[in-house]
Amino acid sequence: MMSRGEYLYRLQCLDSEDDARRRRLTEVEAALRESEALKEARRSVEHAQAQVRKLAARQQSLELELKGLVDKLSASEQRLYSGVLKNPKEMADLEAEVAALNRRRQKLEDDLLEAMIAREEAEETLNKARKHLDHLEADWSARQAELTAEQQALRHRLEELREAREVLLSDISPGDLQVYQNLRRRKGGLAVVTLQGDVCGGCGIAVSPSLKWQLRQEGIGYCSHCERIIVMQ
Ligand SMILES: [Zn+2]
Repeated sequence: MMSRGEYLYRLQCLDSEDDARRRRLTEVEAALRESEALKEARRSVEHAQAQVRKLAARQQSLELELKGLVDKLSASEQRLYSGVLKNPKEMADLEAEVAALNRRRQKLEDDLLEAMIAREEAEETLNKARKHLDHLEADWSARQAELTAEQQALRHRLEELREAREVLLSDISPGDLQVYQNLRRRKGGLAVVTLQGDVCGGCGIAVSPSLKWQLRQEGIGYCSHCERIIVMQ
């Protein structure tokens, strides 16, 4: 037959373990969901893909425009040097047109080069983003099996604790339980501690000789400093 103090101490042990396992279960369940980092990495890849598509389309449209211009330029040049034009005004106009087309071509070639560089940079960014995502996904997948097993073990243990607590409660008076629960709320979950030599296991302060005597006699008392229930182990 356990004493009143022993029952309360046992209850504290069950509840402390329950608290710790619940905290761990919350962590495990968070790790089982996709992390913010993973979602962020996926968004980065999508963004980089859109950027590459946009720049590829720009490059293609500049290439088409340049090709059209080069065709037009070579037709004008052919006409200019073919000797079919006899009128000096017509010749001068065509020369001016060829010069304008050449300037336009120069500009388009510069734009095209810029577009190609931007596209290469965007592809580089996309590759890096993909690698980062692959790395995070591989890490995440590798941990899933382990985390799922831990989650199941934790749930199982929490169920055992719940059952053990229910059995134990039949041996604890409603008054003691109320004091215990009140202390648990106010004292960071720790209501019952053991006497550690001469000091309270909760606050570390030495107990008075009279309390020590009481603990020896009754196995239970209250710390005058932190108010927790002290039991003799
Ligand atoms: Zn104390």
